[in-house]
Amino acid sequence: MTDEPLLARLVVGSQNFPCNRCNLRCVVAVQLPHSWDVAGKPTTVGWRQAPLCPSCDLEDPHAGPLAMFLRWHEQFGQPGWHADEDILAEFAKLLGDWLPHASIPQLSEEAYEADLAAWRRGEFD
Ligand SMILES: [Zn+2]
Repeated sequence: MTDEPLLARLVVGSQNFPCNRCNLRCVVAVQLPHSWDVAGKPTTVGWRQAPLCPSCDLEDPHAGPLAMFLRWHEQFGQPGWHADEDILAEFAKLLGDWLPHASIPQLSEEAYEADLAAWRRGEFD
């Protein structure tokens, strides 16, 4: 294994990235490196993917403009879709605004407890 830091990887395309919050299809995601240690074992390194959701990320100050762009250009990244230079330049700018702030949504203890309580009430049946 190399000691070079892992950089974020951008994924854009027609793959189906489900939003990990609302399950909506996303066409842009960033893969961020993460690692964890277990005593006595080598560090384990992996990737976690954070899709940019055209719905959930609308209110985010860094992701919102790109989310709006993706809502406006629904076919972005789909086979056969072509954009002119202005649209691609706008996408590149919005992507550059979002990427430094992209992060993996953290699990919330409160959200977990709320989901568990809802499950116990049978709301997921
Ligand atoms: Zn979502």
